[in-house]
Amino acid sequence: MPVENAIITHGHADHARAGHQNVLATQNTIDIMKIRYGHKCANSFQPLEYHKPLKVKDITITFYPAGHILGSAQILIENTHNRLLITGDYKTSSDSSCQSFELVECDQLITEATFGLPVFQHPKPENEIKKIITAFERSEKKTYIIGAYALGKSQRVIKLLRDIGYNDTIFLHGSQVKICDYYASQGIDLGKLEPVSHKKNKDFEGKIVIAPPSALKDKWSRRFSEPVICYASGWMSIKQRAKQSLVEIPLIISDHCDWNELTATIKKCKTKTVWVTHGREDALVYWCRKQDIDAKPLYMQGREEEQ
Ligand SMILES: [Zn+2]
Repeated sequence: MPVENAIITHGHADHARAGHQNVLATQNTIDIMKIRYGHKCANSFQPLEYHKPLKVKDITITFYPAGHILGSAQILIENTHNRLLITGDYKTSSDSSCQSFELVECDQLITEATFGLPVFQHPKPENEIKKIITAFERSEKKTYIIGAYALGKSQRVIKLLRDIGYNDTIFLHGSQVKICDYYASQGIDLGKLEPVSHKKNKDFEGKIVIAPPSALKDKWSRRFSEPVICYASGWMSIKQRAKQSLVEIPLIISDHCDWNELTATIKKCKTKTVWVTHGREDALVYWCRKQDIDAKPLYMQGREEEQ
């Protein structure tokens, strides 16, 4: 719903919408919104750097990195007697494609809980990405198509590949190009990338192609003669999901906290109150109460699954 003053945590579609009057966000988030929704997607934009307090009447707003995607921010809203922290989407594990998460102490925490069940324990992403390299060694001629959301996940997958020494050109579905270019312009070195466009089948033999998950099943993916379908998502830890989507190589790579990261963050930020949103609220609320932390679920409108 469009509002007069919106503070936007990051550029994913379930958090950043077009049509607000005034938007306060990091410069990265503003840039991403303009790329995705056009330059006039809000009436006015005010960028705010991390760690720079902004006074608005009797409250102060400060952004801290959320470690989710480039430009993602946690929002601290404080006055003389309360520090309220809104995490937005976040993860505390390392990710060289965006600014690292910073722990902020607060009195009241609004946390996401996309993977808020003890069963969710994300494996190391470096080990997940190595599955692709191992598969390459077995069959060099195939085309490895990795399904990954265009904003954040694609760039993280590419960066993970580069960080383990994969230097070959990576091909991109057309919808991935603009955001990858933007990340590169911000100093995130993604190596050599090329759009798939009208190249021939043979050009993709033994190559990696990054595409949005929706393209894995449609006509687009049929152009490749021997495709191996891979999918990078935290949800790949649920084997049934990988099977249903006919994924041959599931990569459990998430840009959200797993259960241990969520509970560790709640403990370390020393909050007295937790409101849980965006996911599996009940388990985390129960866990908080067992630690004598006041907690309740906060149900949001218009929420979408992991992005
Ligand atoms: Zn997100």
